[in-house]
Amino acid sequence: MLGFVPTMGALHAGHVSLVHAAQRDCSPVAVSIFVNPKQFGPAEDFERYPRALEADSQLLESLGVEYLFAPEAAEIYPPGFSSYVEVEGLSSRLEGRTRPGHFRGVATAVLKLLEIVQPWRAYLGRKDAQQARIIQQLVRDFHLDAEIQVCPIVRESDGLALSSRNAYLNPEDRHAAAVLCRALGAAREALARGERSSANVVAAMREVIRREPRAATDYVEVVRADTFEPTDRIRGSCYALLAVFFGATRLLDNLLIEEKDGEVRCEL
Ligand code: AMP
Repeated sequence: MLGFVPTMGALHAGHVSLVHAAQRDCSPVAVSIFVNPKQFGPAEDFERYPRALEADSQLLESLGVEYLFAPEAAEIYPPGFSSYVEVEGLSSRLEGRTRPGHFRGVATAVLKLLEIVQPWRAYLGRKDAQQARIIQQLVRDFHLDAEIQVCPIVRESDGLALSSRNAYLNPEDRHAAAVLCRALGAAREALARGERSSANVVAAMREVIRREPRAATDYVEVVRADTFEPTDRIRGSCYALLAVFFGATRLLDNLLIEEKDGEVRCEL
């Protein structure tokens, strides 16, 4: 049963955790490395996105990954390519609002990768929770065979979620970036104290970020995990999500909140 881990390369321990999850359930395992031009806006970092194919390929070999699929953009989008998929609704909020067209590019590339690789299961990170939810919807809407598994966020010792874009941070911003995880920690504490108002949980997160002068907030929101729509009260499955700039580098993080019968369980 083929397991599949789609990535944009510059592999780190977050990607490795997905490979390990795939290897637990599947054999063989395929990893793709494709910096998808269609998910970057014209003013975004496509050109400077880190690329490390040689080191990535060695790492995957040492992990015992059987297949590496690293296509050129022209193989995925040959001249005349003109079909796109859009997962409506889910794609317009949060990341989609800041990055118009981003999820159209993601959904189009992932549909193609799933069609080419034909995996039994595909492994995605909860780090990109909205992306994972959109891909689940894509799979459902197009009757794709792949089962989508969403895996936990791997973090540095100070709580910063691993990301290929962390390489852009200068030492001061790298230090400051731990504020994302601290803000989510403040949300978790507020929830543990019994807070169930989304506005108050958001205020607790904003207060932590406000104290870090290098951080500029893009969004801080609490949404329902199924629709990614804002919710006034925290009930059922929700996410607290944030996107914060450090200079030109924009970082994401989220807290998964599971409320049931008044009890709350959080996953950083
Ligand atoms: P990327 O190469 O950034 O497109 O990410 C490829 C996959 O790895 C996506 O499913 C991401 O959500 C996942 N991923 C990225 N960072 C992490 C992390 N820190 N922990 C777990 N999964 C991650």
